[in-house]
Amino acid sequence: MIEIRNLHKSFGALEVLKGIDVSLDKGKVLVIIGPSGSGKTTLLRCMNLLETPDQGTIKLSDRSLDFQKGRKVSSKEVTELRKRTGMVFQSYNLFPHKTVIENVMEAQITVQKKSKEDARKSSQELLAKVGLGDRGNSYPHQLSGGQQQRVGIARAMAVEPDVLLFDEPTSALDPELVSEVLKVIKQLAIEGRTMVIVTHEMKFAADVADHVLLMDGGYIIEQGHPKDVLNNPQSDRAKQFLNRLT
Ligand code: ATP
Repeated sequence: MIEIRNLHKSFGALEVLKGIDVSLDKGKVLVIIGPSGSGKTTLLRCMNLLETPDQGTIKLSDRSLDFQKGRKVSSKEVTELRKRTGMVFQSYNLFPHKTVIENVMEAQITVQKKSKEDARKSSQELLAKVGLGDRGNSYPHQLSGGQQQRVGIARAMAVEPDVLLFDEPTSALDPELVSEVLKVIKQLAIEGRTMVIVTHEMKFAADVADHVLLMDGGYIIEQGHPKDVLNNPQSDRAKQFLNRLT
């Protein structure tokens, strides 16, 4: 489902991804952990081309793209790859002037070209799925952070993506609101959604991940089954990082 080979990305002189190789099967959950600044979010944003890699290959389901410095990627290629993903942002990124249900409908109308009626029906189902079936006519500011993030998840699912990408989905939330969002994500994992999640929530990572990837300084320093990576890390750097958290 996901196949990333030799991915490099720099911002000016700062090389943030230094040759990343990842693969993930359909229906599996990949959790990316690592210290601040290690490149986790950049890797995730490269997967839906919010950042354009300098070099490497990204394959998502049936669509593969090669990147080389100097070769411009066409907007058609970007759209084709991006259509296979749904992104959940740290700060929700909902449209403030649209109601909750309009937020979920938006991409179905503009990207998928669904009729308003069809978009409304499927958005209502998605809102019910994240426990907000009765809040469709509210505006984002009328909801708690946890509820807004659940709308963010419904919106990401609305375009029926092959892969859901989560960028630290709970780090903007008050602690008491974290669990309601993690519960929704956990349910999606049980249903067999393919997901990539950047998080600092280690207990959640252990609980939900099929595969954990530990990054440091633009490299993957360990990857594998959560039990191995989180409980029995091999490298000193990984041990240091994980010890600091306990
Ligand atoms: P955190 O856990 O703090 O979110 P991270 O592991 O997700 O960190 P990234 O956000 O990927 O790390 O950032 C990696 C490095 O790239 C950092 O030094 C960051 O300042 C830099 N960086 C990220 N985005 C940009 C950008 N658009 N322009 C310049 N530098 C950037």
